[in-house]
Amino acid sequence: MKRTGIFYHEICGRKAYSSLAMSVAEGFESLKKENLFGEPNISLFEPNPAPEELIAKVHTKDMIERVRRSGYYETSLYSVGGTLLAIEKVLTKEVDNALVFGGVGGHHSDRNNFGGGCFFNTEAIPIVYAREKFGLKRFAVVDTDTHHANGTIDIFKDDEDLLYICFCGGYWGFGGRAKSGTKVCLPHGASDEEEIENVRREVPKRLEEFKPELVYWMLGLDTHKDSYGTRKLTEKCYPELAKIIKESADKVCGGKLVVFNACNAPAHVTEYVMPRIVDCLAELGRYPKE
Ligand SMILES: [Zn+2]
Ligand SMILES: [Zn+2]
Repeated sequence: MKRTGIFYHEICGRKAYSSLAMSVAEGFESLKKENLFGEPNISLFEPNPAPEELIAKVHTKDMIERVRRSGYYETSLYSVGGTLLAIEKVLTKEVDNALVFGGVGGHHSDRNNFGGGCFFNTEAIPIVYAREKFGLKRFAVVDTDTHHANGTIDIFKDDEDLLYICFCGGYWGFGGRAKSGTKVCLPHGASDEEEIENVRREVPKRLEEFKPELVYWMLGLDTHKDSYGTRKLTEKCYPELAKIIKESADKVCGGKLVVFNACNAPAHVTEYVMPRIVDCLAELGRYPKE
């Protein structure tokens, strides 16, 4: 079994980005309902807000001021804060892997612009932190959200030590025409089977070739049929994706995996998905495949 950390602050549930189909509090509460915190290898951590001097290493002063006035400043600080604490606990080996609940997203935010439910970048800031504080260099982000990670890819466009596998449909034209092979946009599946097959075909081989020191999974749920993205998948798909990505991280970087999720699907989805993601990360084997 692996030691899994869950990172959640109630502000991320109470003040989650409101205009999307978000169910952060319900997703987190489902872990309690399933008594997952009763397992000896599962720990709950409450993050602090991310320090502003760290945010200023990724975002402009002007953007920080605009986020401050957005109504989601506090939620953004705690969402990034969760990723920072998760990185710290994984890299100091207090836990093997981590699941972070954010109240807002981050992958649409570049250095000076934000939108689409994203504020401070929840990928770039923890990566900068891991590099500066722990000396890690090579990261891989697997992004299975519906949408293109325009912000994070822009921030790291010239950074060959960041592999970004973006399952956005590829319609932003990166694909084969990307300047480097480290930023790739790939199609989404039109069914659970196709999505699972795409991830199985594309992710492990790229991770094995790239050899990251840590894998970060941006688990978007807006691909679910009851959410607002591609609307093609059922809740049964996500635990299968978790298995593929976790096994691959186990193989390439000793299992160092941080999963970020802002629960961007209705409650019935997150209540099914989140306990099963934790089950997979912690290797509990509670939920036999249906
Ligand atoms: Zn999205
Ligand atoms: Zn993309």
